Amino acid sequence: ESGSRKNFIREAIDADLESGRFEGRVQTRFPPEPNGYLHIGHAKSICLNFGIARDYGGRCNLRFDDTNPLTEEVEYVDSIKEDVCWLGFEWDEQHFASDYFEQLFEYAVQLIRMGKAYVDDLTAEEIREYRGTLTEPGKNSPYRDRSAEENLDLFMRMKNGEFEDGTHVLRAKIDMAHPNLVMRDPTLYRIRKAPHHRTGDKWVIYPMYDFTHCISDSLERVTHSLCTLEFEINRELYDWVLDQLDVYHPQQIEFARLNLSYTVLSKRRLIQLVRENHVDGWDDPRMPTMVGLRRRGIPPEAIRDFCDRIGVAKADNLVDIALLEHCVREELNRTAPRIMGVLNPIKATIENYPEGQVEWFEMPYYPDEPEKGTRQVPFSRTLYLEREDFREEAPKKFFRLAPGREVRLRYAYYVTCTDVIKDAEGNVTELILRYDPETKGGWSQDGRKVKGTLHWVSSEHALPCETRLYDRLFTVENPMDKKHGDFKSTINPDSLEVVTGYMEPSVADAEPGMRVQFERLGYFCVDSRDSRPGQPVFNRTVTLRDSWAR
Ligand code: ATP
Ligand code: MG
Ligand code: MG
Repeated sequence: ESGSRKNFIREAIDADLESGRFEGRVQTRFPPEPNGYLHIGHAKSICLNFGIARDYGGRCNLRFDDTNPLTEEVEYVDSIKEDVCWLGFEWDEQHFASDYFEQLFEYAVQLIRMGKAYVDDLTAEEIREYRGTLTEPGKNSPYRDRSAEENLDLFMRMKNGEFEDGTHVLRAKIDMAHPNLVMRDPTLYRIRKAPHHRTGDKWVIYPMYDFTHCISDSLERVTHSLCTLEFEINRELYDWVLDQLDVYHPQQIEFARLNLSYTVLSKRRLIQLVRENHVDGWDDPRMPTMVGLRRRGIPPEAIRDFCDRIGVAKADNLVDIALLEHCVREELNRTAPRIMGVLNPIKATIENYPEGQVEWFEMPYYPDEPEKGTRQVPFSRTLYLEREDFREEAPKKFFRLAPGREVRLRYAYYVTCTDVIKDAEGNVTELILRYDPETKGGWSQDGRKVKGTLHWVSSEHALPCETRLYDRLFTVENPMDKKHGDFKSTINPDSLEVVTGYMEPSVADAEPGMRVQFERLGYFCVDSRDSRPGQPVFNRTVTLRDSWAR
């Protein structure tokens, strides 16, 4: 079953269950900040958190970590919910960190009363200077020893909007010489006079991630709080806050974030691609966003399979995007109906086929499972073949068309190329074929061998369709590698090629989102944004050739 592989997180959970910690419960959460669209890195976290809850009979909440009013929007909240559902998961409870603002405030007051937090008047820059470095201890703020009464008064006035942004913060009072920089009196609250997407103008002070996250986990009674490796140094603060407040205490466990070759997985960078029009929106099929992958035609099953195969580890690495493509092919090979279409057409005329005659061949959608359905495909004297399937000078092993050679037209007839027509520059513009009427259906009674089988469409019946051929969005494996300079300098200028494909007429009614295999060409998906009734636009999800090697 997908997602059930043993890993160090599941081993830790097993140990906790064994020892009776957390009363034998397992509860996780997926905590996105609604400041952008989810990407495939988030899918790893979703599969991990929801997969664990599923396999241990536990619970998993969806929690929006919405503590920064400047960057968060309802549009993102909605898209995140849709993406989690699309991936195939259901949350037990939905929460917003902003629902806890009142309680968070009370906890902050409690810390102030305990002498564990103080209001600081230093500027952000001064706070940074006072923090020190890994090798140098920090300096205490001159405001560090204010009395609890004074701190309470100032904190209330911060809350009441008496101070401007950046003039005051609430900080934990820990140790300015602490070896872990995160512990050097971290900021717990800041002033942000900006409307919040849920609480409107009610608050002008907002809690910081480190204060919010642990308390939210605690309030929801999460058992295992799974987060990415960069939060390892924050765990000490996570534990400190909960210890000071003496409240229910979940276990934070860190795992390596997903990095994928030839793309970037960071909302901040993806936003740049969108805003600067390097792509056509968040759901551009070249984007690693869930909406992009979906529009590209990548099935959720393939993403879950991929997340299962990459597993979870304790060290960062770069996963080969060819593995994702491999998972996509495996899934689509099972599920995508086979269709014929020609992307780079050359006209072919069968000189001995009666003019005006049309035959309809019944073709299975799944050649190995004909019981799953068929459709009728018209055949006539004039066809489009794939230009690459013809060579005037062909080597022996070229099992396609060449002057004098015979091939099978899929499900139709054997044809032999008898002549070619050229333009003034000598380019072949049309092939002249002869067919053998005794080979109807694509086989011959005399048992003679033809090696090549070509796809085709009847030119007069073909449906011209806009077809988008995608390549990788970046030209280098790791666009974030400093040696490339700005990551945008490695954008692939040829990541999109738009061609007119000539498709068999049965696809005219294909629904947006439908995935097919155009035989010998690749897997394609009917674009959900630009297709019109009777006029599908096709996005190439992935080619057929698999470059994944173990
Ligand atoms: P980004 O850097 O893209 O903005 P983020 O971590 O800030 O990502 P959040 O919305 O805070 O985005 O993430 C929600 C959850 O998804 C977090 O638990 C985070 O650790 C996890 N997550 C984000 N990116 C990845 C990734 N590349 N691989 C695995 N998990 C990820
Ligand atoms: Mg985050
Ligand atoms: Mg972020």
